[in-house]
Amino acid sequence: MTTNLRAYLDNNATTRVDPQVVAAMLPFFTEDFGNASSTHEFGAAVAPALKAARQAVQALIGAEFDHEVIFTSGGTESNTTALLSALDTQAGRDEIVTSAVEHPAVLNLCQHLEKIGRAKIHVIPVNEAGDLDLEAYRAALSEKTAVVSIMWANNETGKIFPVAELATLAKTVGALFHTDAVQATGKIALNVKDKAIDILSLSGHKLHGPKGVGALYVKKGVKFSPLFRGGKQERGRRAGTENAPGIVGLGAAAKLALEADYARIAALRDRLQQGLAAAIPCALVNGGGARLPNTLNIAFGYADSEALLHKLDRTGIAASSGSACASGSMEPSHVLRALRVPPLYLQGALRFSLSRDTTDAEIDAVLQHLPAIVASAREKSPLWVEFCKKTA
Ligand SMILES: *Cc1c(COP(=O)(O)O)cnc(C)c1O
Repeated sequence: MTTNLRAYLDNNATTRVDPQVVAAMLPFFTEDFGNASSTHEFGAAVAPALKAARQAVQALIGAEFDHEVIFTSGGTESNTTALLSALDTQAGRDEIVTSAVEHPAVLNLCQHLEKIGRAKIHVIPVNEAGDLDLEAYRAALSEKTAVVSIMWANNETGKIFPVAELATLAKTVGALFHTDAVQATGKIALNVKDKAIDILSLSGHKLHGPKGVGALYVKKGVKFSPLFRGGKQERGRRAGTENAPGIVGLGAAAKLALEADYARIAALRDRLQQGLAAAIPCALVNGGGARLPNTLNIAFGYADSEALLHKLDRTGIAASSGSACASGSMEPSHVLRALRVPPLYLQGALRFSLSRDTTDAEIDAVLQHLPAIVASAREKSPLWVEFCKKTA
């Protein structure tokens, strides 16, 4: 079954680049293509454009000074830089405190650092609702902690962490506080200025900007050690000729993000959640409490998410079973396992992530097709009827 409908509900994996962003980028490929460090005319427009982009990112996250923003190649590089810089600059401290639900860009790096003996890692668990175990967090903090890395919002469930309070606690032991704000940026107000957050990561392609560009916020006064050494770009903090088109695109995306109507997006998400919960028995929403306005993670008992996604795809609907890195392999997502999602639901989780491009018709399409898709998937497991009767 194929229709002309295309519903893209996988915006936490990546977003469509806004046409206005593309338009802002284009001159920097073919006209103003010079190197920002060159003194001739071909590069003349580049430095001012980079400056404007930096100010746009600064405004988006509420940074006080534009030199607190360093452009990078994306979220992964920003996270890597943050942790390695903290280990380099925090003399006598070699421990990292992080959470069980971080993006692989943080967790896999931490695993590696532990393996090579560079750092000791404390992975703080979460409860069923996705809340961080605060007792374990406090207990892990010590004068050995170089840096805490806790995400602002989770990519799979949308769960928002109380990073301001967590950062204040980190300060009591003199640790730096880094937050992976890749999913939070542009979706909720961040305002780092009055918070104890020292370092923050963001990425262009999660907010309708281009892929391969991101930024790192480093609070004024926080010691920094570059990941890339070489030229003097980014005040010597990130060597390499600037990705001028990408940075301009990120700046344009940052400006547009401030104008997005997230109340509308949240209303669409809530309608999707309520509609699915009403139409499909044995459905469980993962990650309670404060959530990003665009994200719904919902698990269907006795169904297999890969099969559901495949059938949705054939009707023109794109969603995800968790993080893009976890799907493809049949491993259940580390985030949902950390939330202790019951085994019967774990294999049947779907993530719908909306954006400002999402329409009513796209939500209608999911509500129209998914109940039948789940029902037919469950035909293979006759037990589900009995099971759902018991749990209803
Ligand atoms: C996508 C994502 C990243 C990685 O960002 P890239 O720009 O793709 O490297 C890191 N953290 C979170 C929470 C993400 O969602």
